[in-house]
Amino acid sequence: MEQCIFCNIVAGKIPSYKVYEDEFLVAILDINPANPGHIVLLPKPHIRSIMELSPQQLSKLAIVARALSLALLEFGAEGVNFLYSMGEAAGQRSPHLLIHIIPRYKEDKVRFIWEPKKFSEEDLKKHQQKLSSLINKSVQTQQQVHQPPQQRVVKKEEPQQKRIYSLEPRHGGYW
Ligand SMILES: [Zn+2]
Repeated sequence: MEQCIFCNIVAGKIPSYKVYEDEFLVAILDINPANPGHIVLLPKPHIRSIMELSPQQLSKLAIVARALSLALLEFGAEGVNFLYSMGEAAGQRSPHLLIHIIPRYKEDKVRFIWEPKKFSEEDLKKHQQKLSSLINKSVQTQQQVHQPPQQRVVKKEEPQQKRIYSLEPRHGGYW
């Protein structure tokens, strides 16, 4: 994806304030930060949404996102928001998957605002019924697709995964 800004950032063709890099992910400072230390975490390949991630990639993303949050707390943040938008209706503007990791401070005037909509108890019960059955189905599908039972046992040793989860710099020099 030549014209994707974020692919060009990953390739080093567009300069960025990189704060983390491994074989799969890059974290950079947002150049229009909500607060000092506002980080954008993205996969190196041109991936549009979390739906395209393998379970290993997804867990790597979550683990690194948590590590970045921990660093932000040490940086001085009093709290952290994750902001991820999937789909145009949700505000996704970039064709490349981005997770905003926003350090928060009391009275920082950063706001995520929506007007609450009113629903009757009956409506909420309908939403609950429909959604919980859809969720059960999608959770089952995900587990079948991503975690066949025979692999679940094998994964317990996972020397390889331990390496992936390690927060130590592995290539040296990119911190
Ligand atoms: Zn891209």
